[in-house]
Amino acid sequence: MKLIDTHCHLYQPAFDADRDAMLERARQLGVQRFYLPGIDAEVVPRMQAMAAAHADCFMMPGLHPCSVNDQYKEELTVVERLLGQASYPALGEIGLDFYWDKTYTQQQFEAFRIQTEWALQYQLPIVIHTRNAMQDTINVVREYQGRGLRGIFHCFSGSYESAVQILDAGFLLGIGGVVTYKNAGLAEVLARLPLSALVLETDAPYLTPVPHRGQRNESSYLQYIVARLCQVYQLPAEEIAATTTANALALFRH
Ligand SMILES: [Zn+2]
Repeated sequence: MKLIDTHCHLYQPAFDADRDAMLERARQLGVQRFYLPGIDAEVVPRMQAMAAAHADCFMMPGLHPCSVNDQYKEELTVVERLLGQASYPALGEIGLDFYWDKTYTQQQFEAFRIQTEWALQYQLPIVIHTRNAMQDTINVVREYQGRGLRGIFHCFSGSYESAVQILDAGFLLGIGGVVTYKNAGLAEVLARLPLSALVLETDAPYLTPVPHRGQRNESSYLQYIVARLCQVYQLPAEEIAATTTANALALFRH
């Protein structure tokens, strides 16, 4: 079985004690690539160190909407500089998050649009984070229709109607631990969508799937997401893995 963790923050201190062992557990399960999304300037050295140390770890520059604050212009110059320095599989995670705080709503929109323009300039797909902002996020993506913008709505947990709009815009859905949560309703939505629309992710160390919910998440827990999708699609794990891995490889730039 070949799997890809399309979204995992494995550079976080939560893995400092056992990072290599954690990576090895995931590799033993068949995880062949780990994509590390950016948050802000502070995590860049740790992302770079991981990508340099492991040929199967790939960093993605990006300013997370929750890190958009009074310093966002300086933060954006860091992303811009990184884009000019090396090549990356994608740009992210970027987007809109109005869950905790709406103070920087306008700045979040601006940072999202600026980074999306850079993605087009560098011909990179984007990894989108959206929370309490689904329709606003879809509307921004639609502004770029016809310009070849592609990407992933990471940690998708929205409605069927939102999913259809996302697929129509040429984007994929990143599916993680939420699909294992009983009351989330995500499995019912996915049952109406083709497997060709999905990529797998853990978002580790966050959003831990059942049966480890409440503990630290890690990439080997992709197995629980695959197992749930086997039930949803009535397909063997090998087929879930093969299709979602092909979807990810076709999207990311290498
Ligand atoms: Zn993330």
